[in-house]
Amino acid sequence: MSATTTLPELERTAPVRHRPALSYELFPARTDHSFERLRETITQLEATAPDHVSVTSRAGHGNLARVLELTEHVLAETSLRPLVHLTSIGSTRVQLTTIIHALLDRGVRGLLALRGDQPAGHRLDDDEIPFARPLIELIRQIERQRTAGLAGGRVSIGVAAYPHRHPESPTTSHDIEVLVAKERAGADFAITQVFFDPEDYCRLLGRTRSAGIRMPLVPGFVPATNPDRLARLAALSGVAPPRELLHELELAADASERRRIGVRFTVDLATRVLDAGAPGLHLFTFNQHTDALDVLDHLDLDRWSTTSQGDAR
Ligand code: FAD
Repeated sequence: MSATTTLPELERTAPVRHRPALSYELFPARTDHSFERLRETITQLEATAPDHVSVTSRAGHGNLARVLELTEHVLAETSLRPLVHLTSIGSTRVQLTTIIHALLDRGVRGLLALRGDQPAGHRLDDDEIPFARPLIELIRQIERQRTAGLAGGRVSIGVAAYPHRHPESPTTSHDIEVLVAKERAGADFAITQVFFDPEDYCRLLGRTRSAGIRMPLVPGFVPATNPDRLARLAALSGVAPPRELLHELELAADASERRRIGVRFTVDLATRVLDAGAPGLHLFTFNQHTDALDVLDHLDLDRWSTTSQGDAR
């Protein structure tokens, strides 16, 4: 074949458009009955062709069997890729090494490296990994040992990022230093904690870019339809929803009105951060598909076309 020959099927008439990333967070079922419901949720979410579904873990990996059950289901019975959350506190380095090998053995290639939610009064043991950064280093070390088995491929590592200061951080600039360190240790992308004002995401994006962070910063969203869930989330994350939103949800006549209010709020928030340059969206589903799918239905994500006449987002 001459060097000047062009392959017709590779010719393009329009620029490639980067489609926004889409992922959903699921948590492992607590019972066999809830696992059955979760399987149905996954089937419904699969229809939207997400890039991955993330599987949460408790600090200490007390629910490891359930994490593996969900991960194996996703790998064996769906077309989806799992991103498994790994939490460093509450487990020894040896236990984490075993868990990482077990996940790689099953075919997992995406890990979200986290410290984990710290139980009140938790005291670190000597062999515990105290932060997410050294956990990333451990994953990369194991990856190097298994290079041949992974056919030279890499494990994709995500980390957490915070549009609002992490509750234990002294300053937002400390948060950025931590994120820089996580990227240098080998993180490929970050998913943010929830936020309710697009400016919070934009500020974080600006700060990370000024600090030289290059990894994509995927915004995390909760469909804001349930005031009790928002209150629980606020207690856990330290991020309170806007009072007006809570007020509107509380005054709503019934669940369907709450859903309409919450979905409208979430779609507006997601649209504004996508317009500001977010690379996609990650939806915290609380194992329910209806609100997540409703949000998606109202967003113009354009994930199913690979070419476009317009500007790349
Ligand atoms: P780190 O990056 O280690 O930071 C923890 C704290 O330590 C921060 O205050 C940071 O500023 C500080 N710090 C970090 N490094 C240093 C250092 N070298 N010196 C001094 N201070 C330092 N929790 C779960 O238990 N299970 C989950 O499945 C889970 N999934 C999550 C998914 C997403 C998308 C997000 C955003 C959070 C999730 N969390 C989960 C919550 C997370 O574990 C908590 O927010 C936790 O408090 C911090 O985790 P991290 O990985 O950001 O920790």
